[in-house]
Amino acid sequence: MRSATVLRKAGERALSNRWSAIHNALPLSHFLTDNYGRKHNYLRISITERCNLRCLYCMPEEGVPLQPDSHILSRDEIKQLASIFVSQGVDKIRLTGGEPTVRRDIVEIVQDLKSLGVKELGITSNGIALHRKLPLLVESGITALNLSLDTLQDGKFMTITRRNGLNQVLKSLERALELGIKVKLNCVVIRGVNEDEILAFVKLAQWWPIEVRFIEYMPFDGNKWELNKVISYKEMKELILQKHPLMVHRDHKSGETAKVFKSPDWVGSVGFITSMTDDFCSDCNRLRLTSDGNLKVCLFGNEEVSLRDMIRSNVPKDEILEVIGEAVKSKKEKHAGLDELKTMKNRPMTLIGGHKLTHLNEKGEARMIDITEKQVTSRMAIAEGFIRFSNDLSIAQIEDNSNKKGDVISLTRISGLSGVKRTSELVILCHPLPVTKASISIDVLQDINSIRVECQVKCDGKTGVEMEALTGVTVALLNVYDMCKAVDKQMVIEGIEVVAKRGGKSDYGSALIEKSKM
Ligand code: SAM
Ligand code: SF4
Repeated sequence: MRSATVLRKAGERALSNRWSAIHNALPLSHFLTDNYGRKHNYLRISITERCNLRCLYCMPEEGVPLQPDSHILSRDEIKQLASIFVSQGVDKIRLTGGEPTVRRDIVEIVQDLKSLGVKELGITSNGIALHRKLPLLVESGITALNLSLDTLQDGKFMTITRRNGLNQVLKSLERALELGIKVKLNCVVIRGVNEDEILAFVKLAQWWPIEVRFIEYMPFDGNKWELNKVISYKEMKELILQKHPLMVHRDHKSGETAKVFKSPDWVGSVGFITSMTDDFCSDCNRLRLTSDGNLKVCLFGNEEVSLRDMIRSNVPKDEILEVIGEAVKSKKEKHAGLDELKTMKNRPMTLIGGHKLTHLNEKGEARMIDITEKQVTSRMAIAEGFIRFSNDLSIAQIEDNSNKKGDVISLTRISGLSGVKRTSELVILCHPLPVTKASISIDVLQDINSIRVECQVKCDGKTGVEMEALTGVTVALLNVYDMCKAVDKQMVIEGIEVVAKRGGKSDYGSALIEKSKM
Protein backbone atom coordinates (compact mmCIF):
# COMPACT_ATOMS: atom_id res chain seq x y z
CA MET A 1 0.00 0.00 0.00
CA ARG A 2 2.75 2.32 1.09
CA SER A 3 4.91 1.53 -1.93
CA ALA A 4 1.94 2.17 -4.25
CA THR A 5 1.59 5.66 -2.74
CA VAL A 6 5.32 6.28 -3.03
CA LEU A 7 5.26 5.14 -6.66
CA ARG A 8 2.27 7.32 -7.47
CA LYS A 9 3.94 10.31 -5.85
CA ALA A 10 7.19 9.63 -7.71
CA GLY A 11 5.17 9.43 -10.95
CA GLU A 12 3.46 12.72 -10.19
CA ARG A 13 6.83 14.31 -9.38
CA ALA A 14 8.34 13.06 -12.64
CA LEU A 15 5.38 14.46 -14.55
CA SER A 16 5.57 17.76 -12.76
CA ASN A 17 9.36 17.97 -13.40
CA ARG A 18 8.73 17.25 -17.05
CA TRP A 19 6.07 19.94 -17.10
CA SER A 20 8.30 22.50 -15.39
CA ALA A 21 11.06 21.71 -17.90
CA ILE A 22 8.58 22.45 -20.65
CA HIS A 23 7.31 25.49 -18.79
CA ASN A 24 10.79 26.94 -18.66
CA ALA A 25 11.32 26.32 -22.36
CA LEU A 26 13.04 28.82 -24.65
CA PRO A 27 11.15 32.00 -25.70
CA LEU A 28 9.33 30.39 -28.59
CA SER A 29 9.44 26.67 -28.47
CA HIS A 30 9.54 24.38 -31.47
CA PHE A 31 5.99 23.28 -30.62
CA LEU A 32 4.73 26.65 -31.82
CA THR A 33 6.97 26.85 -34.88
CA ASP A 34 5.54 25.38 -38.05
CA ASN A 35 7.24 23.67 -40.99
CA TYR A 36 7.62 27.03 -42.76
CA GLY A 37 9.47 28.63 -39.87
CA ARG A 38 6.48 30.71 -38.74
CA LYS A 39 6.56 31.36 -35.01
CA HIS A 40 3.16 31.56 -33.35
CA ASN A 41 3.36 33.93 -30.43
CA TYR A 42 -0.21 35.22 -30.73
CA LEU A 43 -3.28 33.37 -29.49
CA ARG A 44 -6.85 34.47 -30.11
CA ILE A 45 -9.33 32.99 -27.70
CA SER A 46 -13.03 33.05 -28.41
CA ILE A 47 -14.77 33.06 -25.05
CA THR A 48 -18.37 32.86 -26.25
CA GLU A 49 -20.46 32.14 -29.32
CA ARG A 50 -23.14 34.55 -28.19
CA CYS A 51 -23.52 38.07 -29.51
CA ASN A 52 -25.77 41.05 -28.87
CA LEU A 53 -25.64 42.20 -32.53
CA ARG A 54 -26.52 40.43 -35.78
CA CYS A 55 -24.12 41.96 -38.31
CA LEU A 56 -25.18 41.19 -41.89
CA TYR A 57 -21.74 39.95 -42.88
CA CYS A 58 -21.30 37.75 -39.86
CA MET A 59 -24.54 36.19 -38.68
CA PRO A 60 -28.00 35.36 -39.96
CA GLU A 61 -30.82 37.40 -38.43
CA GLU A 62 -31.96 34.48 -36.26
CA GLY A 63 -28.42 34.04 -34.92
CA VAL A 64 -26.32 30.91 -35.16
CA PRO A 65 -27.25 27.65 -33.43
CA LEU A 66 -25.55 27.76 -30.04
CA GLN A 67 -23.91 24.86 -28.29
CA PRO A 68 -24.96 23.95 -24.76
CA ASP A 69 -23.03 25.92 -22.13
CA SER A 70 -21.33 22.70 -21.02
CA HIS A 71 -19.50 22.58 -24.38
CA ILE A 72 -17.99 26.02 -23.88
CA LEU A 73 -14.63 26.37 -22.13
CA SER A 74 -14.95 27.34 -18.48
CA ARG A 75 -12.86 30.14 -16.98
CA ASP A 76 -10.52 27.57 -15.45
CA GLU A 77 -10.17 25.64 -18.72
CA ILE A 78 -9.33 28.86 -20.57
CA LYS A 79 -6.60 29.56 -18.03
CA GLN A 80 -5.22 26.02 -18.18
CA LEU A 81 -5.07 26.00 -21.96
CA ALA A 82 -3.70 29.53 -22.22
CA SER A 83 -0.97 28.65 -19.73
CA ILE A 84 0.27 25.89 -22.05
CA PHE A 85 0.61 28.36 -24.91
CA VAL A 86 2.19 31.04 -22.72
CA SER A 87 4.72 28.52 -21.38
CA GLN A 88 5.86 28.03 -24.97
CA GLY A 89 6.31 31.68 -25.79
CA VAL A 90 2.89 33.12 -26.61
CA ASP A 91 3.10 36.69 -25.37
CA LYS A 92 0.02 38.17 -26.98
CA ILE A 93 -3.53 37.04 -26.32
CA ARG A 94 -6.74 38.54 -27.69
CA LEU A 95 -10.21 37.75 -26.43
CA THR A 96 -12.89 37.58 -29.06
CA GLY A 97 -16.15 35.80 -29.78
CA GLY A 98 -19.12 36.13 -30.51
CA GLU A 99 -19.12 39.22 -28.37
CA PRO A 100 -16.69 38.69 -25.47
CA THR A 101 -18.35 41.30 -23.25
CA VAL A 102 -21.52 39.20 -22.97
CA ARG A 103 -19.60 36.65 -20.94
CA ARG A 104 -20.29 37.31 -17.24
CA ASP A 105 -16.88 36.22 -15.98
CA ILE A 106 -14.91 38.25 -18.54
CA VAL A 107 -13.15 40.32 -15.84
CA GLU A 108 -12.02 37.19 -14.01
CA ILE A 109 -10.83 35.65 -17.29
CA VAL A 110 -8.79 38.78 -17.98
CA GLN A 111 -7.29 38.65 -14.46
CA ASP A 112 -6.37 34.99 -14.95
CA LEU A 113 -4.70 35.66 -18.28
CA LYS A 114 -2.85 38.67 -16.93
CA SER A 115 -1.48 36.51 -14.13
CA LEU A 116 0.13 34.29 -16.78
CA GLY A 117 2.35 37.22 -17.70
CA VAL A 118 1.48 37.99 -21.32
CA LYS A 119 2.85 41.24 -22.77
CA GLU A 120 -0.29 42.26 -24.62
CA LEU A 121 -3.82 41.34 -23.66
CA GLY A 122 -6.36 42.58 -26.18
CA ILE A 123 -10.08 42.36 -26.72
CA THR A 124 -12.12 42.60 -29.91
CA SER A 125 -15.57 43.99 -29.20
CA ASN A 126 -18.55 45.52 -30.93
CA GLY A 127 -18.60 48.14 -28.18
CA ILE A 128 -22.28 47.80 -27.28
CA ALA A 129 -21.81 46.65 -23.70
CA LEU A 130 -18.19 47.64 -23.33
CA HIS A 131 -18.10 51.23 -22.09
CA ARG A 132 -19.20 50.42 -18.53
CA LYS A 133 -16.94 47.40 -18.21
CA LEU A 134 -13.88 48.91 -19.84
CA PRO A 135 -12.30 50.65 -16.80
CA LEU A 136 -12.39 47.42 -14.78
CA LEU A 137 -11.17 45.41 -17.76
CA VAL A 138 -8.23 47.76 -18.22
CA GLU A 139 -7.50 47.64 -14.50
CA SER A 140 -7.59 43.85 -14.72
CA GLY A 141 -5.09 43.71 -17.56
CA ILE A 142 -6.58 44.67 -20.94
CA THR A 143 -3.98 46.67 -22.87
CA ALA A 144 -5.53 46.91 -26.35
CA LEU A 145 -8.95 47.21 -27.91
CA ASN A 146 -10.11 46.36 -31.43
CA LEU A 147 -13.48 48.02 -31.74
CA SER A 148 -15.74 47.01 -34.62
CA LEU A 149 -17.63 49.81 -36.29
CA ASP A 150 -18.71 49.84 -39.93
CA THR A 151 -20.73 53.04 -40.14
CA LEU A 152 -21.01 56.40 -38.47
CA GLN A 153 -24.66 56.77 -39.45
CA ASP A 154 -27.46 55.76 -37.08
CA GLY A 155 -29.83 54.31 -39.67
CA LYS A 156 -27.10 52.39 -41.41
CA PHE A 157 -25.88 51.02 -38.08
CA MET A 158 -29.35 49.54 -37.63
CA THR A 159 -29.25 48.08 -41.16
CA ILE A 160 -25.80 46.52 -40.77
CA THR A 161 -26.09 45.23 -37.21
CA ARG A 162 -29.90 44.71 -37.17
CA ARG A 163 -29.85 46.41 -33.77
CA ASN A 164 -29.57 49.94 -32.34
CA GLY A 165 -26.50 51.11 -30.53
CA LEU A 166 -24.19 53.47 -32.46
CA ASN A 167 -24.05 55.83 -29.46
CA GLN A 168 -22.96 53.04 -27.14
CA VAL A 169 -20.15 52.08 -29.51
CA LEU A 170 -18.98 55.68 -29.73
CA LYS A 171 -19.06 55.89 -25.92
CA SER A 172 -16.83 52.81 -25.77
CA LEU A 173 -14.43 54.46 -28.21
CA GLU A 174 -14.31 57.60 -26.09
CA ARG A 175 -13.78 55.58 -22.90
CA ALA A 176 -10.92 53.63 -24.47
CA LEU A 177 -9.20 56.83 -25.59
CA GLU A 178 -9.62 58.31 -22.10
CA LEU A 179 -8.10 55.21 -20.56
CA GLY A 180 -5.15 55.49 -22.94
CA ILE A 181 -5.14 51.93 -24.26
CA LYS A 182 -4.14 51.04 -27.81
CA VAL A 183 -7.23 51.31 -30.06
CA LYS A 184 -7.86 49.90 -33.51
CA LEU A 185 -11.19 50.44 -35.25
CA ASN A 186 -12.27 47.51 -37.45
CA CYS A 187 -14.44 48.47 -40.39
CA VAL A 188 -15.63 45.78 -42.82
CA VAL A 189 -16.15 47.50 -46.16
CA ILE A 190 -18.95 46.16 -48.36
CA ARG A 191 -19.87 47.53 -51.78
CA GLY A 192 -23.26 49.16 -51.80
CA VAL A 193 -23.33 49.30 -48.01
CA ASN A 194 -20.63 51.53 -46.54
CA GLU A 195 -17.91 52.29 -49.10
CA ASP A 196 -19.24 55.86 -49.21
CA GLU A 197 -18.02 56.29 -45.59
CA ILE A 198 -14.38 55.35 -46.14
CA LEU A 199 -13.25 58.99 -46.11
CA ALA A 200 -15.30 59.75 -43.00
CA PHE A 201 -13.49 56.92 -41.21
CA VAL A 202 -10.15 58.24 -42.47
CA LYS A 203 -10.96 61.51 -40.68
CA LEU A 204 -11.13 59.64 -37.39
CA ALA A 205 -7.55 58.48 -38.00
CA GLN A 206 -6.55 62.04 -38.85
CA TRP A 207 -7.74 63.41 -35.53
CA TRP A 208 -7.45 60.58 -33.05
CA PRO A 209 -4.62 58.25 -31.99
CA ILE A 210 -6.31 55.23 -33.47
CA GLU A 211 -5.62 52.86 -36.31
CA VAL A 212 -8.67 52.61 -38.57
CA ARG A 213 -8.51 49.22 -40.25
CA PHE A 214 -10.47 48.62 -43.41
CA ILE A 215 -11.24 44.92 -43.74
CA GLU A 216 -11.97 43.18 -47.03
CA TYR A 217 -15.32 41.41 -46.82
CA MET A 218 -14.73 37.67 -46.28
CA PRO A 219 -16.95 34.65 -46.95
CA PHE A 220 -18.09 32.51 -44.03
CA ASP A 221 -20.83 29.90 -43.79
CA GLY A 222 -24.20 31.55 -44.20
CA ASN A 223 -23.06 35.18 -44.57
CA LYS A 224 -24.47 35.58 -48.12
CA TRP A 225 -21.09 36.77 -49.36
CA GLU A 226 -20.79 37.79 -53.03
CA LEU A 227 -17.60 38.55 -54.90
CA ASN A 228 -18.93 41.79 -56.36
CA LYS A 229 -19.53 43.13 -52.83
CA VAL A 230 -15.83 42.87 -51.96
CA ILE A 231 -13.98 46.16 -52.17
CA SER A 232 -10.34 45.37 -52.60
CA TYR A 233 -7.55 46.96 -50.64
CA LYS A 234 -6.26 48.56 -53.86
CA GLU A 235 -9.62 50.17 -54.58
CA MET A 236 -9.90 51.52 -51.03
CA LYS A 237 -6.34 52.82 -51.06
CA GLU A 238 -6.77 54.59 -54.39
CA LEU A 239 -9.87 56.31 -53.08
CA ILE A 240 -8.01 57.57 -50.00
CA LEU A 241 -4.98 58.62 -52.09
CA GLN A 242 -7.18 61.06 -53.98
CA LYS A 243 -7.42 63.10 -50.74
CA HIS A 244 -4.42 62.12 -48.63
CA PRO A 245 -0.81 61.19 -49.31
CA LEU A 246 -0.14 57.83 -47.65
CA MET A 247 3.20 56.56 -46.43
CA VAL A 248 3.91 53.02 -45.36
CA HIS A 249 3.92 52.90 -41.59
CA ARG A 250 4.09 49.15 -40.93
CA ASP A 251 3.60 46.13 -43.14
CA HIS A 252 3.13 42.38 -42.82
CA LYS A 253 6.83 41.85 -42.32
CA SER A 254 6.49 43.33 -38.85
CA GLY A 255 4.13 40.53 -37.83
CA GLU A 256 1.05 42.56 -38.78
CA THR A 257 -2.11 41.34 -40.42
CA ALA A 258 -2.64 44.84 -41.74
CA LYS A 259 -0.75 47.01 -44.20
CA VAL A 260 -0.60 50.27 -42.25
CA PHE A 261 -0.20 53.79 -43.67
CA LYS A 262 0.01 57.29 -42.27
CA SER A 263 -0.18 60.82 -43.62
CA PRO A 264 2.27 63.38 -42.24
CA ASP A 265 -0.28 65.44 -40.32
CA TRP A 266 -2.31 62.59 -38.93
CA VAL A 267 -2.45 61.57 -35.30
CA GLY A 268 -3.56 58.06 -36.16
CA SER A 269 -3.12 55.72 -39.12
CA VAL A 270 -5.11 53.58 -41.53
CA GLY A 271 -4.61 49.90 -42.11
CA PHE A 272 -5.97 47.39 -44.58
CA ILE A 273 -6.70 43.76 -43.85
CA THR A 274 -6.31 42.16 -47.23
CA SER A 275 -7.38 38.59 -46.52
CA MET A 276 -9.15 38.29 -49.87
CA THR A 277 -6.76 39.92 -52.33
CA ASP A 278 -3.30 39.62 -50.79
CA ASP A 279 -2.91 37.00 -48.10
CA PHE A 280 -0.46 37.51 -45.27
CA CYS A 281 0.01 33.78 -44.72
CA SER A 282 3.80 33.90 -44.95
CA ASP A 283 3.98 36.08 -41.83
CA CYS A 284 1.06 34.62 -39.94
CA ASN A 285 1.83 34.25 -36.24
CA ARG A 286 -1.71 33.48 -35.03
CA LEU A 287 -3.41 30.49 -33.50
CA ARG A 288 -7.06 30.41 -32.52
CA LEU A 289 -8.93 28.69 -29.76
CA THR A 290 -12.66 28.39 -30.40
CA SER A 291 -15.07 28.88 -27.53
CA ASP A 292 -15.67 25.13 -27.42
CA GLY A 293 -11.95 24.57 -27.06
CA ASN A 294 -10.78 23.63 -30.54
CA LEU A 295 -7.40 24.75 -31.75
CA LYS A 296 -7.63 26.23 -35.24
CA VAL A 297 -4.30 26.98 -36.89
CA CYS A 298 -5.75 28.95 -39.82
CA LEU A 299 -8.83 31.18 -39.92
CA PHE A 300 -9.70 29.78 -43.33
CA GLY A 301 -8.89 26.14 -42.63
CA ASN A 302 -11.32 23.46 -41.48
CA GLU A 303 -8.78 21.51 -39.47
CA GLU A 304 -9.41 21.65 -35.73
CA VAL A 305 -8.37 19.65 -32.72
CA SER A 306 -10.27 19.59 -29.43
CA LEU A 307 -8.03 20.66 -26.57
CA ARG A 308 -11.10 20.88 -24.33
CA ASP A 309 -11.69 17.15 -24.54
CA MET A 310 -8.10 16.53 -23.54
CA ILE A 311 -8.27 18.90 -20.58
CA ARG A 312 -11.54 17.30 -19.51
CA SER A 313 -10.03 13.82 -19.74
CA ASN A 314 -7.10 14.94 -17.57
CA VAL A 315 -4.60 14.36 -20.36
CA PRO A 316 -1.23 15.58 -19.00
CA LYS A 317 -0.19 18.99 -20.26
CA ASP A 318 2.90 17.69 -22.00
CA GLU A 319 0.72 15.39 -24.10
CA ILE A 320 -1.62 18.26 -24.93
CA LEU A 321 1.44 20.20 -25.99
CA GLU A 322 2.47 17.38 -28.33
CA VAL A 323 -0.95 17.59 -29.98
CA ILE A 324 -0.68 21.37 -30.26
CA GLY A 325 2.76 20.91 -31.83
CA GLU A 326 1.35 18.46 -34.38
CA ALA A 327 -1.48 20.82 -35.27
CA VAL A 328 0.94 23.73 -35.72
CA LYS A 329 3.18 21.58 -37.90
CA SER A 330 0.18 20.69 -40.06
CA LYS A 331 -0.49 24.37 -40.86
CA LYS A 332 -0.50 24.89 -44.58
CA GLU A 333 1.86 27.34 -46.23
CA LYS A 334 -1.06 29.42 -47.50
CA HIS A 335 -4.80 29.41 -47.00
CA ALA A 336 -7.07 28.52 -49.92
CA GLY A 337 -7.23 30.98 -52.81
CA LEU A 338 -10.20 33.19 -53.53
CA ASP A 339 -11.86 30.66 -55.83
CA GLU A 340 -11.75 27.95 -53.17
CA LEU A 341 -12.69 30.28 -50.33
CA LYS A 342 -15.88 31.22 -52.13
CA THR A 343 -17.14 27.67 -51.94
CA MET A 344 -15.37 26.35 -48.87
CA LYS A 345 -17.32 25.45 -45.73
CA ASN A 346 -16.03 27.29 -42.70
CA ARG A 347 -17.41 28.22 -39.33
CA PRO A 348 -19.09 31.60 -39.13
CA MET A 349 -16.71 34.16 -37.58
CA THR A 350 -18.63 34.07 -34.31
CA LEU A 351 -17.76 30.44 -33.86
CA ILE A 352 -14.08 30.87 -34.61
CA GLY A 353 -11.99 32.78 -32.32
CA GLY A 354 -10.31 28.61 -32.59
CA HIS A 355 -7.50 18.54 -33.75
CA LYS A 356 -11.07 18.66 -33.16
CA LEU A 357 -12.16 15.14 -32.51
CA THR A 358 -11.97 14.09 -36.11
CA HIS A 359 -15.49 12.66 -36.11
CA LEU A 360 -17.13 15.70 -34.55
CA ASN A 361 -18.12 18.80 -36.45
CA GLU A 362 -17.86 22.32 -35.13
CA LYS A 363 -21.02 21.82 -33.08
CA GLY A 364 -19.64 18.70 -31.47
CA GLU A 365 -21.94 16.59 -33.62
CA ALA A 366 -20.96 13.44 -35.43
CA ARG A 367 -19.49 13.88 -38.88
CA MET A 368 -17.62 11.79 -41.42
CA ILE A 369 -13.94 12.44 -41.94
CA ASP A 370 -13.22 14.23 -45.19
CA ILE A 371 -11.34 11.71 -47.35
CA THR A 372 -11.48 13.74 -50.55
CA GLU A 373 -7.73 14.27 -50.61
CA LYS A 374 -6.84 10.66 -49.83
CA GLN A 375 -5.32 8.43 -52.49
CA VAL A 376 -7.31 5.53 -53.91
CA THR A 377 -5.44 2.33 -53.06
CA SER A 378 -6.23 -1.35 -53.12
CA ARG A 379 -7.48 -2.39 -49.68
CA MET A 380 -8.57 -5.62 -48.10
CA ALA A 381 -9.55 -6.83 -44.66
CA ILE A 382 -10.44 -10.12 -43.06
CA ALA A 383 -12.50 -10.33 -39.89
CA GLU A 384 -13.58 -13.35 -37.91
CA GLY A 385 -16.03 -14.14 -35.12
CA PHE A 386 -17.50 -17.10 -33.28
CA ILE A 387 -20.80 -18.30 -31.92
CA ARG A 388 -20.52 -20.78 -29.07
CA PHE A 389 -23.49 -23.08 -28.46
CA SER A 390 -24.51 -24.35 -25.03
CA ASN A 391 -25.68 -27.74 -26.36
CA ASP A 392 -24.90 -29.80 -29.48
CA LEU A 393 -28.36 -29.60 -31.08
CA SER A 394 -27.69 -26.55 -33.20
CA ILE A 395 -24.51 -27.91 -34.74
CA ALA A 396 -26.27 -31.18 -35.52
CA GLN A 397 -29.12 -29.32 -37.25
CA ILE A 398 -26.70 -27.14 -39.19
CA GLU A 399 -24.73 -30.12 -40.38
CA ASP A 400 -27.69 -32.15 -41.59
CA ASN A 401 -29.54 -29.05 -42.77
CA SER A 402 -32.54 -29.78 -40.58
CA ASN A 403 -33.05 -26.43 -38.91
CA LYS A 404 -36.77 -25.64 -39.15
CA LYS A 405 -36.08 -22.11 -40.40
CA GLY A 406 -34.00 -23.22 -43.36
CA ASP A 407 -30.43 -23.70 -44.56
CA VAL A 408 -28.36 -21.97 -41.85
CA ILE A 409 -25.11 -21.98 -43.85
CA SER A 410 -26.54 -20.43 -47.04
CA LEU A 411 -28.73 -17.90 -45.26
CA THR A 412 -25.85 -16.90 -42.99
CA ARG A 413 -23.65 -16.30 -46.00
CA ILE A 414 -26.32 -14.12 -47.64
CA SER A 415 -26.92 -12.19 -44.38
CA GLY A 416 -23.20 -11.54 -43.98
CA LEU A 417 -22.83 -10.25 -47.53
CA SER A 418 -25.84 -8.04 -47.06
CA GLY A 419 -24.17 -6.67 -43.89
CA VAL A 420 -21.01 -5.86 -45.86
CA LYS A 421 -23.00 -3.92 -48.43
CA ARG A 422 -25.01 -1.98 -45.85
CA THR A 423 -22.13 -1.05 -43.52
CA SER A 424 -22.27 2.66 -44.27
CA GLU A 425 -26.01 2.73 -43.59
CA LEU A 426 -25.64 0.93 -40.27
CA VAL A 427 -22.43 2.43 -38.91
CA ILE A 428 -23.22 6.01 -39.31
CA LEU A 429 -19.76 7.56 -39.72
CA CYS A 430 -18.59 5.01 -42.29
CA HIS A 431 -18.15 6.14 -45.86
CA PRO A 432 -19.93 4.12 -48.53
CA LEU A 433 -17.19 2.17 -50.29
CA PRO A 434 -17.04 0.61 -53.75
CA VAL A 435 -16.58 -2.97 -52.52
CA THR A 436 -15.10 -5.04 -55.33
CA LYS A 437 -15.20 -8.43 -53.64
CA ALA A 438 -16.71 -9.91 -50.46
CA SER A 439 -16.98 -13.45 -49.23
CA ILE A 440 -18.22 -15.20 -46.11
CA SER A 441 -16.90 -18.57 -45.05
CA ILE A 442 -18.36 -20.64 -42.27
CA ASP A 443 -16.55 -23.41 -40.37
CA VAL A 444 -18.18 -25.78 -37.95
CA LEU A 445 -15.85 -26.35 -34.97
CA GLN A 446 -17.36 -29.41 -33.33
CA ASP A 447 -14.64 -29.83 -30.70
CA ILE A 448 -15.52 -26.46 -29.15
CA ASN A 449 -19.23 -26.60 -30.11
CA SER A 450 -18.87 -23.38 -32.08
CA ILE A 451 -19.17 -21.90 -35.52
CA ARG A 452 -16.51 -19.63 -36.91
CA VAL A 453 -17.46 -17.02 -39.49
CA GLU A 454 -14.85 -15.28 -41.58
CA CYS A 455 -15.55 -12.29 -43.80
CA GLN A 456 -13.10 -11.06 -46.41
CA VAL A 457 -13.69 -7.75 -48.16
CA LYS A 458 -11.76 -5.98 -50.89
CA CYS A 459 -12.12 -2.56 -52.48
CA ASP A 460 -10.20 0.06 -54.40
CA GLY A 461 -10.86 3.07 -52.24
CA LYS A 462 -9.66 5.92 -50.07
CA THR A 463 -10.38 4.28 -46.75
CA GLY A 464 -10.10 0.77 -45.32
CA VAL A 465 -12.67 -2.03 -45.43
CA GLU A 466 -12.28 -3.31 -41.86
CA MET A 467 -15.70 -2.02 -40.89
CA GLU A 468 -17.28 -3.87 -43.81
CA ALA A 469 -15.53 -7.09 -42.81
CA LEU A 470 -16.55 -6.66 -39.16
CA THR A 471 -20.14 -5.86 -40.10
CA GLY A 472 -20.24 -8.89 -42.41
CA VAL A 473 -19.09 -11.20 -39.60
CA THR A 474 -21.42 -9.66 -37.04
CA VAL A 475 -24.53 -9.83 -39.20
CA ALA A 476 -23.69 -13.40 -40.25
CA LEU A 477 -23.35 -14.43 -36.60
CA LEU A 478 -26.62 -12.69 -35.73
CA ASN A 479 -28.28 -14.74 -38.44
CA VAL A 480 -26.95 -17.97 -36.90
CA TYR A 481 -28.22 -16.76 -33.53
CA ASP A 482 -31.62 -15.94 -34.96
CA MET A 483 -31.99 -19.28 -36.70
CA CYS A 484 -30.80 -21.36 -33.73
CA LYS A 485 -32.40 -19.52 -30.81
CA ALA A 486 -35.37 -21.92 -30.67
CA VAL A 487 -33.08 -24.80 -29.69
CA ASP A 488 -30.39 -22.93 -27.73
CA LYS A 489 -31.16 -20.02 -25.46
CA GLN A 490 -27.63 -19.55 -24.17
CA MET A 491 -25.50 -19.06 -27.26
CA VAL A 492 -22.66 -16.56 -26.99
CA ILE A 493 -21.34 -14.46 -29.86
CA GLU A 494 -17.66 -13.76 -29.21
CA GLY A 495 -14.22 -12.97 -30.52
CA ILE A 496 -15.20 -10.63 -33.37
CA GLU A 497 -12.01 -9.00 -34.64
CA VAL A 498 -10.04 -7.94 -37.68
CA VAL A 499 -7.38 -10.57 -38.26
CA ALA A 500 -5.76 -9.25 -41.41
CA LYS A 501 -5.56 -5.94 -43.24
CA ARG A 502 -3.80 -4.68 -46.34
CA GLY A 503 -3.53 -1.14 -47.76
CA GLY A 504 -3.68 2.17 -45.85
CA LYS A 505 -1.38 3.00 -42.95
CA SER A 506 -0.93 -0.46 -41.44
CA ASP A 507 -0.74 -3.98 -42.91
CA TYR A 508 -0.95 -7.14 -40.86
CA GLY A 509 -2.01 -10.77 -41.10
CA SER A 510 -0.24 -11.18 -44.46
CA ALA A 511 -0.10 -14.98 -44.09
CA LEU A 512 -3.90 -15.07 -43.85
CA ILE A 513 -4.21 -12.79 -46.85
CA GLU A 514 -1.90 -15.03 -48.87
CA LYS A 515 -3.93 -18.04 -47.81
CA SER A 516 -7.19 -16.34 -48.76
CA LYS A 517 -5.97 -15.73 -52.39
CA MET A 518 -8.38 -12.85 -52.77
N1 SAM B 1 -18.14 40.67 -31.72
C1 SAM B 1 -16.84 41.18 -31.75
C2 SAM B 1 -16.72 42.25 -32.80
O1 SAM B 1 -17.60 42.36 -33.65
O2 SAM B 1 -15.74 42.98 -32.76
C3 SAM B 1 -15.75 40.16 -31.90
C4 SAM B 1 -15.99 39.05 -32.86
S1 SAM B 1 -16.07 39.53 -34.55
C5 SAM B 1 -16.42 38.00 -35.29
C6 SAM B 1 -14.39 39.86 -34.92
C7 SAM B 1 -14.17 40.69 -36.15
O3 SAM B 1 -14.50 39.93 -37.29
C8 SAM B 1 -15.00 41.95 -36.23
O4 SAM B 1 -14.14 43.04 -36.37
C9 SAM B 1 -15.82 41.77 -37.45
O5 SAM B 1 -16.01 42.97 -38.10
C10 SAM B 1 -14.99 40.81 -38.27
N2 SAM B 1 -15.79 40.07 -39.25
C11 SAM B 1 -16.87 39.30 -39.02
N3 SAM B 1 -17.35 38.79 -40.17
C12 SAM B 1 -16.56 39.25 -41.16
C13 SAM B 1 -16.54 39.09 -42.58
N4 SAM B 1 -17.44 38.37 -43.20
N5 SAM B 1 -15.58 39.70 -43.28
C14 SAM B 1 -14.64 40.44 -42.65
N6 SAM B 1 -14.60 40.64 -41.32
C15 SAM B 1 -15.54 40.06 -40.58
FE1 SF4 C 1 -21.57 39.97 -33.33
FE2 SF4 C 1 -19.10 40.74 -33.91
FE3 SF4 C 1 -20.41 39.08 -35.53
FE4 SF4 C 1 -21.19 41.55 -35.37
S1 SF4 C 1 -19.20 40.86 -36.10
S2 SF4 C 1 -22.51 39.77 -35.29
S3 SF4 C 1 -20.78 42.03 -33.32
S4 SF4 C 1 -19.78 38.65 -33.48
